[in-house]
Amino acid sequence: TDPALIRNFCIIAHIDHGKSTLADRMLQLTGVVEDRRMREQYLDRMDIERERGITIKSQAVRLPFTALDDVTYALNLIDTPGHVDFTYEVSRSLAACEGAILLVDAAQGIEAQTLANLYMALDHDLAILPVLNKIDLPAAQPEKYAEELAGIIGCDPSDVLKVSAKTGDGIEELLNELVQQVPPPEGDPDGPARAMIFDSVYDTYRGVVTYVRVVDGWLGSRERIEMMSSKATHETLEVGIISPEPTKVPGLGVGEVGYIITGVKDVRHSKVGDTITSATGGAAEMLPGYQEPQPMVFSGLYPIDGSDYPVLRDALEKLQLNDAALVFEPETSAALGFGFRCGFLGLLHMEITRARLEREYDLNLISTAPNVIYDVFMDDGERYTVTNPSEFPEGKIGEIHEPIVKGTLLSPAEFVGPIMELCQARRGSLQGMDYLSEDRVEMRYVLPLAEIVFDFFDQLKSRTKGYASLDYEPSGEQVSDLVKVDILLQGEKVDAFSAIVHRDKAHAYGVEMTKKLRELIPRQQFEVPVQAAIGSRVIARENIRAIRKDVLSKCYGGDISRKRKLLERQKEGKKKAKMVGRVEVPQEAFISALSTE
Ligand code: GDP
Ligand code: MG
Repeated sequence: TDPALIRNFCIIAHIDHGKSTLADRMLQLTGVVEDRRMREQYLDRMDIERERGITIKSQAVRLPFTALDDVTYALNLIDTPGHVDFTYEVSRSLAACEGAILLVDAAQGIEAQTLANLYMALDHDLAILPVLNKIDLPAAQPEKYAEELAGIIGCDPSDVLKVSAKTGDGIEELLNELVQQVPPPEGDPDGPARAMIFDSVYDTYRGVVTYVRVVDGWLGSRERIEMMSSKATHETLEVGIISPEPTKVPGLGVGEVGYIITGVKDVRHSKVGDTITSATGGAAEMLPGYQEPQPMVFSGLYPIDGSDYPVLRDALEKLQLNDAALVFEPETSAALGFGFRCGFLGLLHMEITRARLEREYDLNLISTAPNVIYDVFMDDGERYTVTNPSEFPEGKIGEIHEPIVKGTLLSPAEFVGPIMELCQARRGSLQGMDYLSEDRVEMRYVLPLAEIVFDFFDQLKSRTKGYASLDYEPSGEQVSDLVKVDILLQGEKVDAFSAIVHRDKAHAYGVEMTKKLRELIPRQQFEVPVQAAIGSRVIARENIRAIRKDVLSKCYGGDISRKRKLLERQKEGKKKAKMVGRVEVPQEAFISALSTE
């Protein structure tokens, strides 16, 4: 295809603002899917990886569209993952596009995550088409939100398109605007091939399917190619486009978007952001922006039934085939037995992985509190990278560095107070605040990542009745006064409960955990002191002698299915008890103490 006739674009939208429905209308309008074969969320359904309505893996579909000038263009819709954990993946999808539709629910206005992705799109110099969706809704306030959008991206409110993805109203105009406003791709057709990988997905039958955007040259099938980050070479067994089913093509030229299959079986051989070139006479320079996947959050995963350990190992290995960001290594805990230390991109990545392990592999798991990566510098010059409280060094510590993030919060103005309180309590510092409209505020904070991975989202939702949203991106590290707090039962450390916390919060953590455990651990034949300590200094203490209370009494409110899950786990756990020194601790006590509900 002539690059002048190509338009590569993505849709930036908050969950539920109508991205999938808009994609459906585009598929229909361009005749890619016949009306009678149309079903809702067509592209999502193709994606077996879809979890909880969140599209994790991006996709690219080619839509032939005949515009007002009677010329037929190839529109490539590149799907982007929507969540904060996948910032890097989002940035690569954006880098594959020249334009973005900023899709906003006309009854809701823009959300933090959308705003963050918009800023990223602007960083990539994409042409932005502001679009209000759901104008058919009686609650829609298109005028109000058009003004808000115009204010944010600096256009005239009348430039904001108004559509209904549900009824199809305005969609054709939208595609015509897209052809007009999104520039065609540019590249060197005669240069050595350079294509950027913006996604790779493992398929049981075909091996890894790699999605690429060709920047220069030509990428043909039956060619030897090189992955520039690793210099590994492969043969392209198949090159194709998706429209909406995968269709073989002889090759892809400048600006084209499609997939390649090489027969590799592991997505780590086909890394997002990497540059593909020809194995002989290839390009000298990679495309900019490549990064190795960086796990940010670590947690121990343990099977409740110890005999499930091999199943867990196999399951993690299988998941890794499709998830270059997931890392794990075996770990043993005196309290929890054999398990794995796993590294994730963030909280959602962690939750999804755990849910998949439980659902697809029928495992019952306990996870330890999430931990970020700390750099600990000792007075004697040693340096430790700590992803687990058990690795926290003893001795004279000079400085501890912890990761921080730039957070963007969006909220109705009435909740500014509670949000500030929360962020303050989480060691945040306010960087700036803007009113997007009379009653909506954007707040920017720098926060330690550790404070966010610990139930920040739940707290934010409950303080703002669910109205506030948060997005964040890594922003380096800072020096902090952190300590390791250990929990001891009758003088014996219980490793699963050790935590690295800020010194000012150590006492509160100690009090909370000792109280919890006093209630959760049944009375023994002797009195059992429960202590929290920093090194050898005890900072909180309780004694177990009261009659055991029902652990479920602490499970008031909350999500019913979570509660049921907890019940099931406890039932399993009741059967087993672990000895910590002379103290018999039922596994249910660990499960309850480690769940934040
Ligand atoms: P996504 O999460 O951004 O992919 O959003 P979906 O496309 O799944 O849409 C979320 C919900 O909004 C679904 O129930 C859709 O039927 C509904 N929806 C999407 N577009 C429109 C629209 O233009 N009008 C109305 N009334 N509902 C819409
Ligand atoms: Mg969707």
